[in-house]
Amino acid sequence: MLNEVRSQLLEELSEIDKAGTHKSEAKITSMQGAHLTIDGKPFINFCANNYLGLSNHSEIISAVKESLDDRGYGLSSVRFICGTQDIHLELETRLSQFLSQEATILFPSCFDANGAIFDVLMKEQDAIISDELNHASIIDGIRLSKAQRYRYKNRDMADLEAQLIAAKSARRRLIVTDGVFSMDGYLAPLPEICALADKYDALVMVDDSHAVGFMGATGAGTAELLGVTDRVDILSGTLGKALGGASGGYISARKEIVDLLRQKARPYLFSNSVPPSVVIGSLKALELVAKGDELRAKLKQNAALFRELMESAGFTLLTGQHPIIPVMFSSEIEAAAVAKGLHERGIHAVAFSYPVVPLGKARIRIQLSAQHSKSDINQCVQAFTDAYANR
Ligand SMILES: *Cc1c(COP(=O)(O)O)cnc(C)c1O
Repeated sequence: MLNEVRSQLLEELSEIDKAGTHKSEAKITSMQGAHLTIDGKPFINFCANNYLGLSNHSEIISAVKESLDDRGYGLSSVRFICGTQDIHLELETRLSQFLSQEATILFPSCFDANGAIFDVLMKEQDAIISDELNHASIIDGIRLSKAQRYRYKNRDMADLEAQLIAAKSARRRLIVTDGVFSMDGYLAPLPEICALADKYDALVMVDDSHAVGFMGATGAGTAELLGVTDRVDILSGTLGKALGGASGGYISARKEIVDLLRQKARPYLFSNSVPPSVVIGSLKALELVAKGDELRAKLKQNAALFRELMESAGFTLLTGQHPIIPVMFSSEIEAAAVAKGLHERGIHAVAFSYPVVPLGKARIRIQLSAQHSKSDINQCVQAFTDAYANR
């Protein structure tokens, strides 16, 4: 059997190679930061979700070091068997306050949070109405539920309305969207989504992984930025991006939803607690976010500066207000050649092409951080110019 399976797998791997979709991983030998070391060489990093620069923040590192003496390394149990540390409850309370939701439940990751919610909340008689570009974890989470499935075109409100009409006879309706679509940096039109939810009597869920910590006046995310905090029923998000970048996810929602998840969510019930050190690090990250006006302003300035310099240099960008900034190219080959040129010039950034993005929409996705200096951004723009000239 083994030999047969091996040759089948090798064939599948070689098909991935042939399709040009093989993914290789940079070997980083430093901390995650605006600057890092890959294979012994220095790079400026423009492809991390380290929006506020908290991934290597000294205050988080000190707090985590201390926590190890106090709380140990691991919990070696799920919460309903051995118990819950007070710090886990504290983090849940803090997240609820921060996000203006009634209650919060932690998961090992946001992937797990999205894997849990639909199965628990949505049954055969119910309908989930999902944006076509939602994150893989939402797509998989919906697959795990027996609810009826409806999909609408990315941010297309006429199509959303059509799907809501089609789902009219369902017992419950739930509209689910990413707050920010990560390949484009586009925001979900939450006010319009909420208005349609009111009109057709639906719940609204937003996965704000690419916004929590830095979008909105206090960093509470896209709902805050777009003024619909009170209307959103369910938020999911990650602790693995702006909020320190380690791991962990959450659902923040109406209390009854969170209570039911604690009883029935399988990735919560049957997977280990978030490690104490990560909980302490996340509490510290939330503290830094609470006094993070300067970091958020710096991030905004950095994104604006990069946009301005790149546009003056003649590059085509997708418009937007998010620190994800896609630089567009006329072909997949061109994008790949420029990405290679960036790498040779010490810029760490990644090209995305079909099938990750639509055919003819190849791009290099740049992600800004509050940790980037003006000089970092200048070097990046210069590298784009030189790499493009020598492509
Ligand atoms: C990154 C991301 C996730 C996954 O978060 P993890 O905590 O790393 O599992 C889920 N949803 C969206 C929209 C994301 O961007």
